[in-house]
Amino acid sequence: MRSITHLWVQFPTRHKIYIASIISFLMLILLVPTEKATASRQNETVPERLQPGVRYDLSLQPVVPIENKKTSEQRFTQPEVVANESALNDELSSTEKKVGESLLEASAPSLPKIDWRDEKIRRNDSLAKIFERNSIPAKTLIEVSRSGKAVDTLVRKLIPGQVIQLGFVEDELNQIVYPLSQLEFIEIHKTETGYSAQQLKKQTESEVLYAGAEIHSSFWNAGLQAGLTDNQIMNLANIFGWDIDFALDIRKGDSFSVVYEELLVDGEPAGFGNILAAEFTSQNQTFRAIRHQDGEYYTPQGNSMRKAFLRAPVNFKYISSNFNPRRLHPVTGRVAPHRGIDYAARTGTPVVSAGDGKVIKSGYSSLNGNYVFIQHGKEYVTKYLHLHKRYVKTGQRVKQNQKIGTVGATGRVTGPHLHYEFLVNGVHRNPKTVKLPKALPLPAAELKTFKQTANSMVALLERNKNTLLAKTSQD
Ligand SMILES: [Zn+2]
Repeated sequence: MRSITHLWVQFPTRHKIYIASIISFLMLILLVPTEKATASRQNETVPERLQPGVRYDLSLQPVVPIENKKTSEQRFTQPEVVANESALNDELSSTEKKVGESLLEASAPSLPKIDWRDEKIRRNDSLAKIFERNSIPAKTLIEVSRSGKAVDTLVRKLIPGQVIQLGFVEDELNQIVYPLSQLEFIEIHKTETGYSAQQLKKQTESEVLYAGAEIHSSFWNAGLQAGLTDNQIMNLANIFGWDIDFALDIRKGDSFSVVYEELLVDGEPAGFGNILAAEFTSQNQTFRAIRHQDGEYYTPQGNSMRKAFLRAPVNFKYISSNFNPRRLHPVTGRVAPHRGIDYAARTGTPVVSAGDGKVIKSGYSSLNGNYVFIQHGKEYVTKYLHLHKRYVKTGQRVKQNQKIGTVGATGRVTGPHLHYEFLVNGVHRNPKTVKLPKALPLPAAELKTFKQTANSMVALLERNKNTLLAKTSQD
């Protein structure tokens, strides 16, 4: 040591500075690891024993695969400062939970895996027989039969031909689905204590659609071509049934336009939608109807479409010929109108009362055959002749649209038809042209909101008609 000190003293000052700087440089290299040194370590395996005060760079291989974006975001948004160990544990468990949930979400349809079997219900089938065919134990049948009130339908009213769905999890009955209609179904599912049955409704969506057409062959055909269902066509005829005689008054060139609501179940049209507004032009006379909250139809001015008398006491769909302006009288063979209107239809076609009233005569005569006369208020009487069958008795009260008999060929006739008469104060009148009692208007309180709806509906109808006209002129 002494010699080193001696040597050091002997060095010139310039050399001393060089040596000192080299030493301090070497010390620096030894103490502070450079970036390069750290980088090279990353590729090495992590030493089993960690040295205190040394920074180890660990390549983070996530334990849970980061498939879910939420999971990785969560990882980075975790607070950086962790107060203590228990807090850290909480954090971890919540992360695990989140990861677990998201994994469950991602693979929901397969977890738990339900094995579905469709079972077509046979004649005289029962839940017990169905269970037996599917090797479901009697114990399960007992549990299912105790699953709640909704199960009663399955126990009592299984409809042959319907399909009941049985869902199994590892060969154990887990769910039952039984459709009641396009909209409703019964669902039974396994719970911790047994089974639970519920009557459920499928979710529906609605959209507003419109349709319209000009009539070329018949109203029915035009309706079908416009995309309306049988029910909608009938409803449309019912809405205007007080103003238009659909059996005899429809002519080529008449037109209609409808705004309706369509319900969608599972994205499929369910056909339960209402007609919201409609317009019908018959022989240059235009009628409009708007649906109100009460489910009834009113003119855009707010007067009820319902009137004291129906235009026709037979449904148009039974009338053999819609377009026959020169209809010959079934007896005289002449075109000349007589005291009533004749509806040629098949024997057995229903005949309804044109309005509320009281049957003043239900009988038979050689001329009229089976006949029914109905008094409506003090002024009006309607008569229905040549009936095949009569369903009402003298003195009986009847409602508008109530079935009073069927079309026949009794009395002095050559073929089946209904002869209909309309009398005002004992005088025969033409029911199509006679002035009838005014329809009831909406109460003033409802009129304001109704008119707002009516205006927008009329605008929709107009727009629809114009689009339709543009389309047909292109064809
Ligand atoms: Zn006649």
